[in-house]
Amino acid sequence: MPKPALPAVLDAVFLAEVREVGQWPPEGPVEVAIAGRSNVGKSTLLNRLAGRRTLARVSKTPGRTRGIIFYDLALRLPGTSERLALRLVDLPGYGYAQVSRDERKAWQRLVEGYVKARSSLRLFLIVLDARRAPGEEELQLAEWLRSERVPHHLVVTKTDKLRAAEHGSARGKARAAFGPDGPSVSLVSGETGEGVDALWALLVEATGLRDGGAQPL
Ligand code: GDP
Repeated sequence: MPKPALPAVLDAVFLAEVREVGQWPPEGPVEVAIAGRSNVGKSTLLNRLAGRRTLARVSKTPGRTRGIIFYDLALRLPGTSERLALRLVDLPGYGYAQVSRDERKAWQRLVEGYVKARSSLRLFLIVLDARRAPGEEELQLAEWLRSERVPHHLVVTKTDKLRAAEHGSARGKARAAFGPDGPSVSLVSGETGEGVDALWALLVEATGLRDGGAQPL
């Protein structure tokens, strides 16, 4: 297989944190949203994708309530000179045992509000810990995204915690849990960077960046 043409991340900046439906920043670059259970390794993955150590704070206090965080990236694809824009949208973590029903509802309202409002959303990533089976939250989220016709993809992270022989079964288990209509699956480690090149290649395709589908920053 040819080596994927990976973008260079020229710039990565915080744009906004939004806690209320409707307070979204104006639409601009194509967006990739990232959701996952608290502590799943989402911030580590975001930092790895952006090639910045501290863009997203790696949480030391799981479960703290926060909003949707928008980051703007400027990219250049290999062999091109154009500066392309991509927005990474970090959704609040979910599934923390101590959150109340009200907080769960608030999460759903905010995330559903975002997804329904955003025509620039190209791909929704659901991040899962390689050592866990998908839970009700992930299955319901994928089902809802399917019903809303939002392209989505499962990213299984922390694969460095698995033995090499377990990689295939992690993928198989995730596929089996979601069933035949479930999302495609990538295996990555935010910690070591394993699999992140292939994930970038997928993001470039899914967002249409290669076809000039993004606007320059
Ligand atoms: P978030 O709450 O989903 O943003 O998760 P964080 O990125 O803050 O990570 C939660 C914990 O998991 C931290 O202690 C990270 O160091 C650790 N972690 C995150 N990604 C990985 C990974 O790929 N491999 C390993 N071994 N640990 C990870």
